[in-house]
Amino acid sequence: MLGFSMKKEEILLRYNSINENIKKIKEKYNIGYDINIIAVSKYSSIETIKEFLSLNIDLPLAESKAQSLRDRAGEIANLKDNVKWHFIGRIQSNKVKYIVKYADLIQSVDSIEIAEYINKEAQKNNKIQDILIQFNISDENQKGGFILDDYINVYNNIIKMPNISLKGLMAIGKDTEDTVIIEEEFEKLNIIYKDINKKYNNTLSVLSMGMSSDYELAIKHGSNMVRIGSSFLGNS
Ligand SMILES: *Cc1c(COP(=O)(O)O)cnc(C)c1O
Repeated sequence: MLGFSMKKEEILLRYNSINENIKKIKEKYNIGYDINIIAVSKYSSIETIKEFLSLNIDLPLAESKAQSLRDRAGEIANLKDNVKWHFIGRIQSNKVKYIVKYADLIQSVDSIEIAEYINKEAQKNNKIQDILIQFNISDENQKGGFILDDYINVYNNIIKMPNISLKGLMAIGKDTEDTVIIEEEFEKLNIIYKDINKKYNNTLSVLSMGMSSDYELAIKHGSNMVRIGSSFLGNS
């Protein structure tokens, strides 16, 4: 698979437009904190990623397949220092080694078992691995994630793992036109995020919700990290 290709001029236009949108959204909802943009590169060709990097826009890239992360992060590391990568896809235990090797932030930790694998692999690599835990806010089975009701348990299990640093929570909005449902579900995770921070001394700093089609709704409900693929480096 080659992936979608774009030149840096077009990428810059898209970046400026996303930034402008986010600025307007922050004004609309009176938000004072930063909204972090993650450039999801999973649809893009390696050439597009190189064009993006030539702009020196300092944003993390994100991949959803362990092999793509390994291949692309490996190739880019030979060209440019300090490029940050996030992992946002389903995690198979036999791929954890690549993910821990290359990911600055693993956003999609969705079981205690996988967290234990990550903790062990991080120990081997002498690394403290930053992670988010993913929740299934939409009751769609094909999407990974812990169930919302378990959050205190999940938090207490993960926080014990010495080579993991839990930074926050992540979720994928429901694939529906019904914005009321999407908003309700984002708000559920926002409430949990605030509750953990209230109970545990403001331990979390990242609430990762929102993609190309729903990032305004996510920001409205507390997200401070949006993962933009198709309308940034992707094909739409
Ligand atoms: C693909 C993907 C994105 C980006 O989605 P777009 O709708 O293309 O912006 C964000 N988050 C996750 C977890 C993804 O898998």
